[in-house]
Amino acid sequence: MIKTISVKTSSREEMVDIRAEVEKIVKERGIKNGVCYIYVPHTTAGVTINEGADPSVKKDILYALKKIAPPTEAYSHIEGNADSHIKATLVGSSASVFIEGGRLILGQWQSIFFCEFDGPRTRKVYIKIIKEEE
Ligand code: ZN
Repeated sequence: MIKTISVKTSSREEMVDIRAEVEKIVKERGIKNGVCYIYVPHTTAGVTINEGADPSVKKDILYALKKIAPPTEAYSHIEGNADSHIKATLVGSSASVFIEGGRLILGQWQSIFFCEFDGPRTRKVYIKIIKEEE
């Protein structure tokens, strides 16, 4: 069973903390031990796990990605969002987190971020939880 989280972004580039939504789904499923897969089915958005405590970290990540893939370059893609596709590939479209004792095993400062690179839009994040054999 796949669960879907809907994420409404409000700017072209944005990192949205979805940790609480993912935790809610894990709790609802009531699985003690397993793996939680987080998958983003979009070509100009992605998902990453990084620091959620200091908001300046996500600001710096977006800043660095913009330096790697500036919006206006001699790109071939005529849609005008080549930089968004490149950033999505750099960040990746999936993440996985272990579940132990019914909880996501994330580091103290880690959060799960939906990464928007061509917003604002309404996006989807798919969650699949696999139960460990006992
Ligand atoms: Zn495109």
